[in-house]
Amino acid sequence: MNPLLRRPAHEILPMLSRGELSCRELMEISLDWMSQTEVRIHSFLTQDGERALAKASALDQRRAKGEMPGPLFGLPVAVKDNLATKGLRTTCGSRILEDFVPPYSATVIERLEQGGAVLLGKTNCDEFAMGSSTENSAFFPTRNPWDLERVPGGSSGGSAAAVASGQAFLSLGTDTGGSVRQPASFCGLCGFKPTYGRVSRYGLIAFASSLDQVGTFARNVRDCALLLEVIAGYDPLDSTSLNEPVPPYSRELENNPGSLRIGFAGDWLAMGLTPEVERTFHRALDTLRGLGFAIESISLPHSHYALPTYYLIAPAEASANLARFDGIRYGLRVPGESLKDLYQATRGQGFGAEVKRRIMLGTYALSAGYRDAFYLKAQQVRTLIRRDFEQAFGVVDLIAVPTTPSTAFRLGEKVNDPLAMYMADLFTIPISLAGLPSLSLPMGIEGGLPVGLQLVGPTLAESRILQAAWRFQQATGLHDLVPPPAGALRA
Ligand code: GLN
Repeated sequence: MNPLLRRPAHEILPMLSRGELSCRELMEISLDWMSQTEVRIHSFLTQDGERALAKASALDQRRAKGEMPGPLFGLPVAVKDNLATKGLRTTCGSRILEDFVPPYSATVIERLEQGGAVLLGKTNCDEFAMGSSTENSAFFPTRNPWDLERVPGGSSGGSAAAVASGQAFLSLGTDTGGSVRQPASFCGLCGFKPTYGRVSRYGLIAFASSLDQVGTFARNVRDCALLLEVIAGYDPLDSTSLNEPVPPYSRELENNPGSLRIGFAGDWLAMGLTPEVERTFHRALDTLRGLGFAIESISLPHSHYALPTYYLIAPAEASANLARFDGIRYGLRVPGESLKDLYQATRGQGFGAEVKRRIMLGTYALSAGYRDAFYLKAQQVRTLIRRDFEQAFGVVDLIAVPTTPSTAFRLGEKVNDPLAMYMADLFTIPISLAGLPSLSLPMGIEGGLPVGLQLVGPTLAESRILQAAWRFQQATGLHDLVPPPAGALRA
């Protein structure tokens, strides 16, 4: 592996913009590594190498003409396949969109490209982002670069594996209940789910609109801040986008956040986690204390109901959002004798088992007679969960909690047990229901596998989270982690 691919993005970017390294040269190195590793990792559903090379050359020419390089000038990046890319197949990991080529790009894609980033391709994910292992992709599973027999997490598993394996410097995923933070934790990366509304959802193919948010993957906190800065901000095309200025996250990174109070919720740990994760978490709390932060006990009692609440609200929204895939307007069409037959055949063949399960759950929860008992009740509990956080943030500045109850599990281990799979998001879902920003970053390696820590903040406290995370990362040295050269990276 070319050592350039292991360097942090913030070190490579100045080399590219000064012309010490050409965009074309770096792209050739990236694509070469991709061709060696993809056969084992399977991060990508669609590779776009030829176009990436042409774009890299065009950037070199523009630089030679004296054009000002953007903040991500010439950087090879990867994006999850539920983000619309104009002229480039966007499948959502589903047969129903297998041949779908969007006529427009998501706002985050446009911002990436305006910033000078070059897309390597579209990454694998659980179908319509429903899952925690990327095994629900209709095409193939992705493997964890740390151990090829294990899952990379999900649903943004392809985006996480692409960055962890060195194929891409940065990537975008989406997080509805944990799909950026959980794979970041499993792959030893930083994964940031921003405040709901901080990043535009325009062109993100909707799963559960009140929860979906685009998030960032990077190998260190500074790179994560750089990417967030580029994609965040108001977008008139998304009515839930927040019209608030975007702080210069990467420049504020080293500012002293002061003597922060960090909340620790004992009732969360009681929900269940492995002894390795618990041990690593207590060590992380010690590190935070050593940095001068005060650790204070808080209570988030309704989090206990977060999983059932989420599995009513998210499927309810999904059942409405996925109604548009009917075989008429776009995507797969399986002909039938009547319109109803066509709908049934298209949706029957186009959707996988997990997607069908969610559509049925959601339709049931919204149906006449059950709506009040299920969907409305869940909305009320969501309010209680959100209030718990509001109260906690009256006392503390951030909350620390493990990202996942365990390290990366084995391929096939949970695939036939939906409830066991749902439990992988025990510690990420309450935060999603409250719409809060949360960063997962490595807090240790246990049994050869990374373990993630979440730092959660109040609304729009992204900068504070990044500052604390940066200090934590300096103290632990757990950044730019390299998976062992067994398996995926032995080339
Ligand atoms: N694993 C959770 C689910 O299947 C979260 C997915 C996500 O965040 N997109 O719903």
